[in-house]
Amino acid sequence: MEEYRGRHILVFGLARSGFGAARLLLEAGAVVCGSDEDENVEIPPDLTALETHMGHFRDELVDDIEEIVVSPGISGDHPVFAAASARSIAVIGELELAYRFARAPVIAVTGTNGKSTTVEMIGEMLGEGGRDAIVAGNTGTPFSSVVGEMDENGLFVIEVSSFQLETIDRFHPACAGILNLTPDHLDRYRSLEEYYGAKERMLDNLAPDDRFFYNADDPLCVEAAERTEAVMVPFSSSGRVSGGVYLDGEHLIRESADGTEEIVCDSGEMKVLGIHNVENALAAIAAVTPFGVTADSCRRALAAFGGLPHRMELVAESGGVSFYNDSKATNVEAAVKSQKGL
Ligand code: ADP
Repeated sequence: MEEYRGRHILVFGLARSGFGAARLLLEAGAVVCGSDEDENVEIPPDLTALETHMGHFRDELVDDIEEIVVSPGISGDHPVFAAASARSIAVIGELELAYRFARAPVIAVTGTNGKSTTVEMIGEMLGEGGRDAIVAGNTGTPFSSVVGEMDENGLFVIEVSSFQLETIDRFHPACAGILNLTPDHLDRYRSLEEYYGAKERMLDNLAPDDRFFYNADDPLCVEAAERTEAVMVPFSSSGRVSGGVYLDGEHLIRESADGTEEIVCDSGEMKVLGIHNVENALAAIAAVTPFGVTADSCRRALAAFGGLPHRMELVAESGGVSFYNDSKATNVEAAVKSQKGL
């Protein structure tokens, strides 16, 4: 990408996404410096040519730098942000950087819980529908490490965290969704408002012909939806939503803009358990609908999708007792929701 040729870029925070960003920038002809405060970080063999500065951050590190790509683990109060701001250097994240290289449209999913499950469901549905799609993002494969692998005919399905949204600029998904907003990450944010505000940055660049799918049962998602001019696709597990996707008894139903309804599947046909997974499925149906995926393709995907490891994963059965591993339930709402599912 010509935008980066010959420019001096600092990648601050060398974990998986930092390495992905560094590779992308080197391929684009940038002069890349990598830095991490942990002196023991191991540099992958293909990046040994990268200039590195390990150890405690010092302001001088950014003196000759034109742009900084920070790791999502670096919070806004880290001195690197003040040093950049004093020198008018732009700071972006790996999500923003990778997006700048993307040729295919992006379906982006955020929310407090259910992101990984939902992006996988979306990927399966697109696959069943014959669409070429790559699932990447927050917890899985970094977007930057796969962005070159898809041309303009395919799609990226990207899981996006609030940390990544703090450092977007031009990031502009064609279809974006917020699954739910409940308390989390108060070790990073000073208030819940600040956390929800970061999540809502998902809407920043949506235009009127983009799609926004959101949980119509969650008042904070409904409030966020009021901020966008994108075409809205609500989903609900508690009642009919016009122009959206909803649960009616056992039926997962989608309604088109002209009011035509079709049953996509019954919740009993889904392999994964729990009302939280029905919500994830409703969201995934909402996300793929603009891309022409049929109800039958969605049904086949949901009947086959067995869930991800550590998310309500059946690990043993003994003496009539089933044992589930739900160690990815890392906040109160996740644990409560998934236990309601049994
Ligand atoms: P995330 O990627 O947002 O952390 P995951 O799909 O990895 O979400 O699921 C993590 C845990 O969150 C699951 O083990 C389950 O306990 C809970 N969970 C999943 N989907 C939802 C949902 N829609 N609402 C509430 N909790 C959920």
